Amino acid sequence: MPQSRETLVALAAELAADFATRAAEHDLNNTFPVENVQRMKETGYTALVIPEEHGGLGANLVDYALCQEQLAQGCGATAIAINMHLFGLGSMVERAAGTPEERLFFETIGRGRQILGGGISEPETGGDWGYFATKARRDGEFYVLNGRKTFTSLSPVIDLFMVMATIEGETPLRSATFVIPRGTPGLELVETWNAMGMRATASHDLVIKDVRVPALAMADARPVGPVDENAISLFTWFSVSVAAVYTGIALAALKFTREFTGRYKPLTLPRPIKYLPGIQFAVAEAEALLAQSRALYLGIANEYLANREGFKGEAGLARVVTAKYAATNNAVRAVDYCMEAVGAHGIMKKFPMERYYRDVRAGVNHPLSNARARELIGKCSLGISLAETPRW
Ligand SMILES: Cc1cc2nc3c(=O)[nH]c(=O)nc-3n(C[C@H](O)[C@H](O)[C@H](O)COP(=O)(O)OP(=O)(O)OC[C@H]3O[C@@H](n4cnc5c(N)ncnc54)[C@H](O)[C@@H]3O)c2cc1C
Repeated sequence: MPQSRETLVALAAELAADFATRAAEHDLNNTFPVENVQRMKETGYTALVIPEEHGGLGANLVDYALCQEQLAQGCGATAIAINMHLFGLGSMVERAAGTPEERLFFETIGRGRQILGGGISEPETGGDWGYFATKARRDGEFYVLNGRKTFTSLSPVIDLFMVMATIEGETPLRSATFVIPRGTPGLELVETWNAMGMRATASHDLVIKDVRVPALAMADARPVGPVDENAISLFTWFSVSVAAVYTGIALAALKFTREFTGRYKPLTLPRPIKYLPGIQFAVAEAEALLAQSRALYLGIANEYLANREGFKGEAGLARVVTAKYAATNNAVRAVDYCMEAVGAHGIMKKFPMERYYRDVRAGVNHPLSNARARELIGKCSLGISLAETPRW
């Protein structure tokens, strides 16, 4: 029996309370909270979505979203970083056929507490997540990989890099994921990460130079282009969890706003500023935006769990992407309203608000970015396929 939703969410809240005590320091120093990952390993959070039979906590998509929402309230950077390990696992578990290789892999994460990460985004292809500039060339029983990956969150603690590459010399073109252990010759992390927000994610570059891996290290090979079931599954786990993480950051901002506006009382006012209509209206806007987001992504996650058949092709993808699109944009707007209510104190380093304000802005950039999401959602609504040419 998987653990109850209440138990899982309580664990995430407990971790969040601990991580919150270090979030400002790691953000300021641009350092990676290795100790947070250690705590997540000890408590099983790194195996949140792995079935219990393999040493995990057995969370389903809704449990996962609720947990990530909690975790992000303590440290947004830790939540999005561990999300890059968890979302693909959730999708793998969902699609697993029960082969010995899959079971061994789940044991490695569940009981072995190994960390996955990296290997999708690139300087050349950005958030395309379909066609990759990184290439894999077949050489007998091996593949040889070359390329460069960006935004490798969790880089100090990744045990297995999940490098996505296009396979050379095949028609039609296919891309695949290659599982490459840390320390494999030719893999090099280059410390490039110094960002405005989500600073404590150590999302450095990964250079892949003539990395030789056995053909067995290749998983998930599929044609570049069409929206298949695997893509829908991956994007569902990604979109719902990303929506939850950025909503969590906004919920933390709202919590701080309630607390601050309840105690801040200029001499010229008889009561704290929360009694002012402007503050109440700004808080109401933030509340409404976040309530809409939560209803949307938790509703989509519940529907997906109940009937995956309802999520097929571009229309199915558009449904999950709409949840990510709406929630990440709502989160930015909600934090803006909170910032407005708190006033100039909100930009001071001694308060967490300015960190929420910076961190929440990263959400819209995760795939599908705003422009790509609008194209998909708009075309689906108008009955136009993404494959139609000319594109515009
Ligand atoms: C905090 C953080 C952590 C991350 N962690 C990871 C990680 O661990 N692993 C990983 O692989 N990635 C990670 N990413 C990368 C991320 O999810 C995206 O892949 C990346 O942000 C996209 O980069 P981009 O906006 O520069 O690129 P692009 O996708 O190229 O977008 C640049 C701009 O061009 C527009 N654009 C580009 N192409 C098109 C198109 N075809 N149609 C319409 N508009 C287009 C976009 O809308 C956007 O405005 C992380 C990102 C962040 C911010």
